[in-house]
Amino acid sequence: MSSISVPPPKCLQKPLTVPYRHMFGPGPSNVPSRILEAGANPVIGHMHPEIFEIMNDIKSGIQYMFQTQNKMTLAVSGTGHSAMECAIFNAVEPGESVLVAVNGIWGERAAEMAERIGARVNTIVAPPGGCFTIEEMEKALSKHRPVLLFVAHGESSTGVLHPLDGIGQLCHKYNCLFLVDCVASIGGAPVYMDQQGIDILYTGSQKVLNAPPGTAPISFSERACQKIFSRRTKPVSFYLDLSWLANYWGCDGKPSRVYHHTGPVTAFYSLRESLSVLVEEGLENSWERHLKVAEYFHAGLESMGLKLFVKEKRLRLPTVTTIVAPYGYDWKEITSYIMKTHNLEISGGLGPSVGLVLRVGLMGCNSSRENVDMVLAALKDALKHCHKSKV
Ligand code: PMP
Repeated sequence: MSSISVPPPKCLQKPLTVPYRHMFGPGPSNVPSRILEAGANPVIGHMHPEIFEIMNDIKSGIQYMFQTQNKMTLAVSGTGHSAMECAIFNAVEPGESVLVAVNGIWGERAAEMAERIGARVNTIVAPPGGCFTIEEMEKALSKHRPVLLFVAHGESSTGVLHPLDGIGQLCHKYNCLFLVDCVASIGGAPVYMDQQGIDILYTGSQKVLNAPPGTAPISFSERACQKIFSRRTKPVSFYLDLSWLANYWGCDGKPSRVYHHTGPVTAFYSLRESLSVLVEEGLENSWERHLKVAEYFHAGLESMGLKLFVKEKRLRLPTVTTIVAPYGYDWKEITSYIMKTHNLEISGGLGPSVGLVLRVGLMGCNSSRENVDMVLAALKDALKHCHKSKV
């Protein structure tokens, strides 16, 4: 075996080119140069003291963003899905009962993940655009007696912001952990992890935080830790095993940290910078900005004759807006036209909302009136130029 049989690919002999785009879909969002530049700092060892300090800063930033005092707060090296699996794989043992509130794709996926590890999964299902009342939650909790209830706070597939007040307390009455997905909502809408009795909360880096995809903040309450650290079986995933991650992130009180995996240090730099941006603006200011911009956007859409998919105002996610797919048009033609003509990404539906909606995400630095005006102009132009059927 003396010569190589696969020649060097021609494509890799050309320089990398990436266009600039307005990233106004449901994620990823645009990354400001300040955050990109943070990620361009030199790579040093993932176990060097400077990195541990950066990880500690990230931890404080997540505690602020989540409004929690939880010691067990860290970022998973992976996207939002890795945090979902980290939550479910650690909190649930095979054969245990899990309840999933499904009102879009994220509930569907959480149910599938729990099924894959052999949990007994029950769901309550609301039509796309809907959500659940406290009474419906209580009925299902008392019937299925789950160890874990999953709710997506920001259902990015349907544009619903699910009310959280009261659910945590209800879960605790039934000795159940409350798991919340806030990937699409955190930083753009209020969440108070401790006050709302949320036991496990996770998000991703690429939405309101405006960092590149690849890190996923997550936090576990004392109750969640008690259950997780008294498991009879080991979690199915080594990579996502909380006892290992807790040690790597210095959350377990042990004097030294042991190698588990090579932390993506440059992604940590960007994540730290994105949390700094949030700290500088202040959570309440960020919530208010997202709400005001969303209201301005929604009024603009309605004045164009478009309809919002989520009927009740208080249930509309301020970060990701779902617009009823304009009648007589092919939604794919609209999104491609806008991409081609305006260099701007918006998207169609996902999972149960496919074909029903267009989705526009204005998150973090993208949430501004100027960007709303840009999207409205692009939509007007698309409705003028795309094919409309007569029927
Ligand atoms: N949950 C919600 C609500 C999301 O919007 C997303 C991303 N669209 C995810 C989970 C999964 O995140 P990721 O794509 O980063 O794995």
